[in-house]
Amino acid sequence: MAGTSRPAEMETATSIRDDIRTGRRSAVDVCRSYLDRIADEDGCWHALTAVFRDEALAHAADIDRRRDEWRDRPLLGVPITVKDVICTRGQLTTAASRILAGFRPPYDATVAVRLREAGAVVVGKTNCDEFAMGSSTEHSAYGPSRNPWNPDHTPGGSSGGAAAAVAAGLAPVAIGSDTGGSIRQPAAFCGIVGLKPTYGRVSRYGLLAFASSLDQIGPLTRTVDDAALVLNVLAGHDPRDATSADAPVADYTAALTGEAAGLRVGMPRALLELADAGIDGEILSAYRRSMEALRDAGVALIDIELPHAEYAVPVYYLVAPAEASSNLARYDGVRYGSRAAAGGAEDNDRGSPLAKMYDRTRDAGFGAEVKRRIMLGTYALSAGYYDAYYRRAQRVRSLIRRDYSNAFDGNAGPGVDVVALPTTPTPAFRLGEHLQDPLAMYLGDIFTVSANLTGLPAISVPAGFTATGLPIGLQLVGRAFDEATLLRLSHAYERAAGGSRRPARAPD
Ligand code: GLN
Repeated sequence: MAGTSRPAEMETATSIRDDIRTGRRSAVDVCRSYLDRIADEDGCWHALTAVFRDEALAHAADIDRRRDEWRDRPLLGVPITVKDVICTRGQLTTAASRILAGFRPPYDATVAVRLREAGAVVVGKTNCDEFAMGSSTEHSAYGPSRNPWNPDHTPGGSSGGAAAAVAAGLAPVAIGSDTGGSIRQPAAFCGIVGLKPTYGRVSRYGLLAFASSLDQIGPLTRTVDDAALVLNVLAGHDPRDATSADAPVADYTAALTGEAAGLRVGMPRALLELADAGIDGEILSAYRRSMEALRDAGVALIDIELPHAEYAVPVYYLVAPAEASSNLARYDGVRYGSRAAAGGAEDNDRGSPLAKMYDRTRDAGFGAEVKRRIMLGTYALSAGYYDAYYRRAQRVRSLIRRDYSNAFDGNAGPGVDVVALPTTPTPAFRLGEHLQDPLAMYLGDIFTVSANLTGLPAISVPAGFTATGLPIGLQLVGRAFDEATLLRLSHAYERAAGGSRRPARAPD
């Protein structure tokens, strides 16, 4: 280990910020300790795709110089990572795709601006599935990341590098994106907290789009406290994102009272029974234990119906690829994307030279899963099939939305404040386990995609471990724009359940 000031195992953003604020540590020392750990240990996790050592240290030095002036900044000197699908100016941003190899955006995403203004120091970019399409990081052009709890297993995806970085202690906070579970599922697989805010809560300006009606940016952290702290920074209206909501933003840290008594939590028993065949036994028992912990904390557990939940995966896998096929049309070697050279043997003899150039560029630039999504999406949107697939999927999406409104509003009797579900049907699977079976990979999204289809905020919090030591997550889904209640309950649960305290370590 280079240097002496190795970051403490379970250091949080809040504690780092407080240390720097009071002068106990300098921002440069903190930054260097994380950069050293990344240099020493990321070889085995492969969580980062780019490290900005010099820029980060220069930024930290600037913070130290201005400490008095900046002391009230909420993330003063906190090292963070940003997922490779979020633009940071002049810094490598590739969506883990060959087609964007070497791309350095000329502008910052709004979240990157907000984080810097809050005093955070971006130390690097994290690995993910190509264009965020996947659940394991195995679809990354950089190769997969590994799970810090067991390197033979995936850290999840698509924000798998982000979750691995936080779990392995390479950064206290990672910023990810979630289109169908990509913040929550890797958080669950890596034993940390992952929050997908309400659609529109956080600006998507500067996020390389996957499915624009589903995408949302959010934090991966070690504690609910940190998730609230980071959401305070990220949340708010942005005129540069037409879908960003002009809704009041609460003080999420102030919402963490430690009290959950009186909250009403919905349990969709029928969904769990339906999924029973595919749910791992240890996940189900962890869910039951979580419900008991909530009841002991004074929460009322209410049976609810989500009758259309069983269609969430098929609906998602029509809507998301359809939107992806349209969003990814811009990577054609002319508007965006590195153009493939002419004259390869694979050139077919059909079409104009321009059409051949598009073919070559997209064939060489995109990986297999992205091509699969583009083909599925184009098919679902094509004349003659649009009504049968895309339109029907949107109709069922409305029914799924209605299920949740009924649960929150209460059909007969009072509604619930939060819906509780497992985050995933299984713990982290082995690298390679689902790679040849896309359907098996897709079915793992059964519990996460509904929050994206409905736009509702959802969080995964640590809920124990399997017998073999793999983390398990509990998912809580809240009312639209009510992250305050969601975080309050998560915080109370974290206290009751003890959170995930066992730190991951690099293998010797
Ligand atoms: N696993 C889902 C998919 O492959 C979700 C990905 C995401 O949220 N970005 O589409």
